Amino acid sequence: MGKRISIAIDGPAGAGKSTVAKIVAAKKGYIYLDTGAMYRALTYKAIRDQINVEDEDALFAALMQSSISFKMGENCQEVFLDSENVTDKIRSREINLGVSTIAAHAKVREEMVRLQQEYGKNGGVVMDGRDIGTHVMPNAEVKIYLIASVSERAKRRHEENIQKGFASNLEELEREISARDLYDSTRDVAPLTKAEDAIELDTTSMSLDSVVEAIVKIIDERS
Ligand code: C5P
Repeated sequence: MGKRISIAIDGPAGAGKSTVAKIVAAKKGYIYLDTGAMYRALTYKAIRDQINVEDEDALFAALMQSSISFKMGENCQEVFLDSENVTDKIRSREINLGVSTIAAHAKVREEMVRLQQEYGKNGGVVMDGRDIGTHVMPNAEVKIYLIASVSERAKRRHEENIQKGFASNLEELEREISARDLYDSTRDVAPLTKAEDAIELDTTSMSLDSVVEAIVKIIDERS
C-alpha cells in the first residue's frame, strides 16, 4: 500500500464532485470531507435563527458557537449541526439560494478553512469544494478540477432531485446553477478558480465510472 495522500476536488456546482469524491474515498479507504455541506449547515443555522446573511460578525459568532460534524449513516454520510441531523435540510432550494452569500464572508471562510485543514492534516483524505486546491490544501498531492456544461449539470441535479422526491424545474436549475457559478467565481475572497497544478476533467460526456477510474489512476501513480 502506498502512502495516504491528500486529494482536492474542486469545480463549479453540479459537476459531480461529491458523487465522485465519495466513491474515490471509499475505494481508497480515505476520509471524505464535503466542505460545501459545512457552508450549507451554517446557512441553515442562519435561516433558522434569523441571522442576516449579510452580517459577517453575527455569522462568524454563530459558527464559533456551533459544531458541524459528519457521521457515517446507513448509506450516506450524515451532516450534523450540533446534535441536529441536517443532512436533507441543507439541500433545500432556500439553502441553495443563500449559501453563496454566506460563503463569501472572509471571517466565515477563514474559520471554515481552519476546520477543514484540521480534518486533512494527516492525509488520507478526499475533500471537495471550491477552494480546496487553492487554499485549504495547497500542498495536496492530487488536485482535480471537475467541470461539465451548465445544461449537463442542471440535468444531473434535476434527476437527483426527482430521485429524492423533491420538486424540480430544469430551466430554473440552469438559471440558479449559472448564477451560483458567477457568484462563486467573482467573489473577492477565495473565488472559484482552478489551481495551477490541478488536472482538469470535463465530465460532460464521461460516465461516472470513467471519471472515478481516471482519478484513482492518478492517485495510485502519486501515492
Ligand atoms: O458544493 P456545494 O454545492 O454543496 O457548495 C455550496 C456552496 O458553498 C457553493 O456554491 C459555494 O458558495 C460554497 N462553498 C465554498 N467553498 C467550498 C465549498 C462550498 O465557497 N470549499
